[in-house]
Amino acid sequence: MVMIRTRQSTRRLRVMACLAAAVLLVAGCGSGDGGSKGDDGRLSVDASFYPLQWMAQQVGGLHVSVSNLTKPGAEPHDLELSPKAVAQLNDADVVVYLSGFQPAVDDAVKTAAGTVFDAKASAKLDRTFGNDTTGEAKPGATDPHFWLDPAKLAVVARSFAATLAERDPANAKDYRAHAARLVAELDGLDRAYDSALSDCSAKDLVTSHEAFGYLANRYGMEQVGIAGLTPGQEPSGADLANVTTFVKRHNVRTIYFETLVSPAVAKTVAAEAGARTAVLDPIEGLTDRSEGSDYLEVMRANLKNLQLGQPCP
Ligand SMILES: [Zn+2]
Repeated sequence: MVMIRTRQSTRRLRVMACLAAAVLLVAGCGSGDGGSKGDDGRLSVDASFYPLQWMAQQVGGLHVSVSNLTKPGAEPHDLELSPKAVAQLNDADVVVYLSGFQPAVDDAVKTAAGTVFDAKASAKLDRTFGNDTTGEAKPGATDPHFWLDPAKLAVVARSFAATLAERDPANAKDYRAHAARLVAELDGLDRAYDSALSDCSAKDLVTSHEAFGYLANRYGMEQVGIAGLTPGQEPSGADLANVTTFVKRHNVRTIYFETLVSPAVAKTVAAEAGARTAVLDPIEGLTDRSEGSDYLEVMRANLKNLQLGQPCP
């Protein structure tokens, strides 16, 4: 908080200085080409939600100052940006976002002066939503939740390192080294998931928020969503009846819910169908209720809950 405020006030000073110097056509205010940096010598990076913030911090290290447009505990799907947040985004050296995920950010990046990195370009979003109990996909809705597949996040991290290296060539070597270290950590996580989930008795992953399609796909499971595209979406009575029937028929033992929204729906289905509930965190934002203090820790907690819930030996 303190850091953000300090950065904003130094920005304000910078903007004022730029305005004062405008008649002299001084270059280097806001963005322009190559490495315009804050007074602390670091690139200012605005990330649109938590996994991208974490990735940007890992890759940028001490050369960047990263802030998150989605405040802790807020739901990123329906993010609204204040005029102040839009102004901050416009002034950032680098903006990291995922197009098609947060409409307010899609709009705001159109006027961003800095380098804009869209994770979608490297994340290969090849899944659509709505593989519900009838197996029908709702056409046109792309599943954005790539970060729950560590292999996809690793590809995005490498691509982001290349973008930072281009923006700030003096530190290019560091960005590549940081990315390599991050990719190694994500590889380790991927291997842990692979071996832990290779022999589970249930392959159906029943979740309140349909965020685990990429994860399920990578580790040989099938996601069955209770709600649809966004966690706020209320399932209809027919949806609930379908899922309850599915849970009973497929002998599903666990219904997963997430930390940012109420578990009421998952609990209702579980009670109806004689299953239990457990947390599976889509890591769209961290709160003090998160089962870990960063992406890696929450992913490991998710793995433990999956092993117990599916269950896997
Ligand atoms: Zn989501």
